[in-house]
Amino acid sequence: MAAVHGLIRPERDTHLGGENPFESMMARFDIAAQQLNLEPGLHQVLRHPERQLIVACPILRDNGQVEVFTGYRVVYNTARGPAKGGIRFDLGVTLDEVKALAAWMTWKCAVVNLPFGGAKGGVLCDPSTMSMPELERLTRRYTSGIIDLLGPDSDVPAPDVNTNERMMAWIMDTYSMHKRHTVTAVVTGKPVEMGGSLGRREATGRGCMIVTREALKGLNLPIDSRTRVAVQGFGNVGSISAKQMAGLGLKIIAVSDKDGGIYNEKGLDIGDVLEHVRQQRFLKTYTKAERISNEELLELECEVLVPAALENVITDDNAGKIKAKIICEGANGPTSATADQTLQDAGILVIPDILANAGGVTVSYFEWVQNRGGYFWDEETVNNRLEKIMVESFNEVAGMAARHGVSMRIAAYMVAIDRVAKVHRLRGMYA
Ligand code: NAD
Repeated sequence: MAAVHGLIRPERDTHLGGENPFESMMARFDIAAQQLNLEPGLHQVLRHPERQLIVACPILRDNGQVEVFTGYRVVYNTARGPAKGGIRFDLGVTLDEVKALAAWMTWKCAVVNLPFGGAKGGVLCDPSTMSMPELERLTRRYTSGIIDLLGPDSDVPAPDVNTNERMMAWIMDTYSMHKRHTVTAVVTGKPVEMGGSLGRREATGRGCMIVTREALKGLNLPIDSRTRVAVQGFGNVGSISAKQMAGLGLKIIAVSDKDGGIYNEKGLDIGDVLEHVRQQRFLKTYTKAERISNEELLELECEVLVPAALENVITDDNAGKIKAKIICEGANGPTSATADQTLQDAGILVIPDILANAGGVTVSYFEWVQNRGGYFWDEETVNNRLEKIMVESFNEVAGMAARHGVSMRIAAYMVAIDRVAKVHRLRGMYA
């Protein structure tokens, strides 16, 4: 008998921390909308996703059995341009999570002023239990399930948790086979050999480094080894953030992955740690530092904390114990809405996710532009253009925060909502 996956939701783990991610996003949206005096009609429009698609993805497992996975794609808003947003393969995927992430993408693209709307996709599955051929079949079947939404001018996916360049190549191929010609711009985060952009893999971590550097300058903190950094998560975002911040001269005292962290108060040799993970995959076998738990890492004595793993790791329970002066949110939604006030009262500068990790989508935008133009840029051009956008966006958000006396998070939402709302007003209501 075919197993039916996704009809019964497994208990969520630490991902949600008990807070509904869509409501958590909306809590901040409502505060920002109120600050902007957003008219009630537009407020209602921006509270609703444009389209929500749920698809069944039957695939043949290697053992010959058919299994049906549930896939989602939510297009939140396309007022400013084609929808843009990643696809995650995870056991924690729910429609509410995908809706929240799609809304975050809308605000993120608007904060850094890209001509994109927001979307997100996900498949409820445990990729760690699947072979590469099974993952390929699932990626292709999911792509064909949502193909009516996709297109360079309508909805452009990218990698997210547990999806990577390899899968983006399969998405591009599946879409192109249906269209009967090669369409590189339908997806970003592709391998460089088939239309990916130089600098894309490093872009999110590089962006985190740039906004952290600007925040350090703003707080008159030294940009050298007196500034200690702790990074939670050592995947794409965490490891590159650590490497980039070490390159800036900061002292990385702790990093972690899902099994826990490593700590050295004198500073870790990040090149050595990266090489270890390249060879052994996990940090737990690294012997040249003390071991600490993920919870301890968040509460370390340091100047900069970079949560770069999961949602809702900073909550009411631990927000009061955080000692960092700056939190750079590499992950999407690492702080629960209820913890915002505690961090603000403690005078901690939070660089919010929709700004801090926007380097990734910015270089995805560069990839889309290069694909459409058929002309590719060198890495220096990519990095210089990313630097300019991240610095300008940081300053815009900081300016908004100062003018309105609000946190950087609410200011980032205000910049974003204001931009999306302006386009809605100019386009008018088609009804
Ligand atoms: P990844 O899969 O490459 O890495 C995730 C890391 O988190 C791994 O080191 C993993 O071991 C660790 N981790 C997993 N569970 C953990 C736990 N319980 N405690 C501590 N660490 C844990 O993913 P990524 O691409 O680096 O994405 C991380 C976050 O950044 C996600 O929230 C993602 O949405 C966000 N993000 C990613 C990008 C990008 O370009 N990759 C862009 C913007 C935002």
